[in-house]
Amino acid sequence: MRQSMVAGNWKMNGTCAEASALVDGIVKGIGKAQVQIVLCPPFVHLQLVAQKLRGIDGLDCGAQNLDPHASGAYTGEISGPMLADVGCRYVIVGHSERRIMFAESSEVVMHKCRAVQEIGLIPILCVGETLAQRESGQTEKAIQEQLDTVLSALGVEAFQHIVVAYEPVWAIGTGRTATPDQAQEVHQFVRASIAAKDTGVAAQVQILYGGSVKSANAHALFSMPDIDGGLIGGASLDSAEFLAICEAAKPH
Ligand code: PEP
Repeated sequence: MRQSMVAGNWKMNGTCAEASALVDGIVKGIGKAQVQIVLCPPFVHLQLVAQKLRGIDGLDCGAQNLDPHASGAYTGEISGPMLADVGCRYVIVGHSERRIMFAESSEVVMHKCRAVQEIGLIPILCVGETLAQRESGQTEKAIQEQLDTVLSALGVEAFQHIVVAYEPVWAIGTGRTATPDQAQEVHQFVRASIAAKDTGVAAQVQILYGGSVKSANAHALFSMPDIDGGLIGGASLDSAEFLAICEAAKPH
């Protein structure tokens, strides 16, 4: 059985004091976690958050991005070995904000995915279609291209240690959520695409849904058979709201 996961993508928000208060609120309220929880603060707060989470079962720290090179003259960049060194376990790659605003191609995302795995960390690989793609019936084609670039370069075995996040671009930060049926349809498609290469890997891969998840809609989404939890943006900045979403992901 796949374990549920809820990952919080804090994006470019918060001071040290705010990051500290947020992680304290989550740790205090979490109780006995039956859900894997990943907190992804901005780079500058990673060390602080990782230190607070050290030794707490079921709570891990993740980064929002990395540079695929291990070290060197890449001014302003952060590498996988640096993330591992400060205590990260996960790294988000291919978030639509990076694909769109920072022109990251599927090829670049694949190289990032490989770099994350090479250092022994776990990529949270985001895939998703734009509104124009959905409205023109291109959803599966868009997802397939993003997924296939990683599948064909790294092989299906790589997905034994990849978390996939389906995040329709039109639902991110817009307040517009995919319905549970719409999300399930794409999750099923992602799992089937992996199953076409290896049914065992497909059965165990965790596929998260992301896009305006809140405590009010989390349970309906997480009840769908191929939705294994969520990648949460805005709502992960409020500890009570985030905790309620984690609660909704617990097996009932
Ligand atoms: C995200 O950025 O990964 C995300 C899902 O954002 P939000 O929950 O705010 O839509």
